[in-house]
Amino acid sequence: MNNDSMVYLAESITYCVHPAAPLADIDQAQVYLDDLLAKPWFSQRWPKVAKKRIQIRAGKTWKWSASTPWDNKITLSPFHLNNLVILHELAHFCAEREIHKDIYHGPEFCGAYLYLMKRMAGAEVERSFRHALKACGVEFTRVL
Ligand SMILES: [Zn+2]
Repeated sequence: MNNDSMVYLAESITYCVHPAAPLADIDQAQVYLDDLLAKPWFSQRWPKVAKKRIQIRAGKTWKWSASTPWDNKITLSPFHLNNLVILHELAHFCAEREIHKDIYHGPEFCGAYLYLMKRMAGAEVERSFRHALKACGVEFTRVL
């Protein structure tokens, strides 16, 4: 099982080298997500997730963002209006099986997150995050 704090550390290391692309507001975040869900490669890899109407809503706290796949919602902190946090939250939907086992940032989540990064943020970002995960001792599955 992965240690959540080690995944956050690997993220921080990656974000220092590859800053996230900011999104102006919740509406722009929703457009980014809807565009991603409509991509053919996404629906081929995660057909059930692609069929969902995932709604992004503004969080009431600055501290955290969250995904709740059971009601198709992503709650975003105002600090998290950027592309990489949306990829993180969407990866929870792609790895929903782990959530049902009370594993939030497990190997399946990390594998999905890496794949989404590669497709949406580029191979360099994905490579940096993969190396950071390895350096932090975090396991991840390979998503082809
Ligand atoms: Zn998370």
